[in-house]
Amino acid sequence: MSDDKPNIPPTARVKLDSDALLANWRALDLMSGAAKAGAAVKANAYGLGARNVVARLVAAGCTDFFVANWQEAQEIEDLTTGKAQVSVLNGVRAADLPFALRSPAKPVLNSLEQVQRWKSSGRSCDIMINSGMNRLGINVEDLDAGLFAGMAIDMVMSHLASADEDGPQNGEQLSRYNAALEIVTGKRASLANSAGIALGSNYHFDVTRPGLSLYGGIQRPDLDGVITQVAVPQAEIIQVRSLQAGDKLGYNAQYIAAEPHKVGILAMGYADGYLRGFSNNGMFMHDGYLLPVLGRVSMDLIAIDLAAAPYLQEGDWVDCEYDLEVASAQSGLSQYELITGLGNRLARDWT
Ligand SMILES: *Cc1c(COP(=O)(O)O)cnc(C)c1O
Repeated sequence: MSDDKPNIPPTARVKLDSDALLANWRALDLMSGAAKAGAAVKANAYGLGARNVVARLVAAGCTDFFVANWQEAQEIEDLTTGKAQVSVLNGVRAADLPFALRSPAKPVLNSLEQVQRWKSSGRSCDIMINSGMNRLGINVEDLDAGLFAGMAIDMVMSHLASADEDGPQNGEQLSRYNAALEIVTGKRASLANSAGIALGSNYHFDVTRPGLSLYGGIQRPDLDGVITQVAVPQAEIIQVRSLQAGDKLGYNAQYIAAEPHKVGILAMGYADGYLRGFSNNGMFMHDGYLLPVLGRVSMDLIAIDLAAAPYLQEGDWVDCEYDLEVASAQSGLSQYELITGLGNRLARDWT
């Protein structure tokens, strides 16, 4: 019985800020103008925990959730049924039908084959238009209003490939999507992801689909000051040691002390998603003091410089610099990789 297992205190965790999550959703909803913001909660809500995220957003009034597959829809079914709609972005395979036909969630139909597969069910669905990303979706040239006769289409959607940039692709996709809406009509239209919301009202339609920015990601300057950090990894110092000048630290001696100083060894590593791109680049913090990562990140351990806060001891906890823009610049990883990569070994601690 899991209830009988002793409670072992974790040595590393992700602190998750409910207020920041809700403030981000409300800010994105407001920025969506006349459209209503839904929430992309695929990949376990970008690694933060789908059930915890969905329960909070449902309570705040979010009524549209986007998951990648039917397992993810099942995972939140009890939280959403009767309160919110769930769209399954990867569509419906023949193998999904036994579950999909009983599920309150609806598929996003991505091909003519999927349209045929779903049509006879008479059940609700969304339609994905390929407006130029060439990932999933039906090409505009292949559309014909007759194909959808009698179908219960909720959202006609498309997805922006480069909403975080100012190139011509956004406008190209917008006009192709608008052309598609002349042919297929649903109850609602939906185009914008997080960055797309910042592109302005032409991109808003009826429903927006933010993911990354709900969780603190900022990919356009317009979202600076609007979006706040949600996830802060924290780790315990499990050993403090004093290095002498010339001492080598960690695998392959990628740090060599130039002078005597203290280092703290943290119980977190690349197996927790803090990847080796942070070696000699990452930053931890305590009370405003900066504690740089020294040497290579190991699988389960990280060394940090305690020179700025030599009072720190074994058993003390430090915060990881995980502002997604900053951590992305430090590590070379995308903000998406950083947030979805946080490992299962880290306890999730909602405040
Ligand atoms: C992941 C996803 C989103 C959310 O994108 P963000 O860039 O994380 O805001 C929206 N729509 C679709 C189709 C997606 O796959």
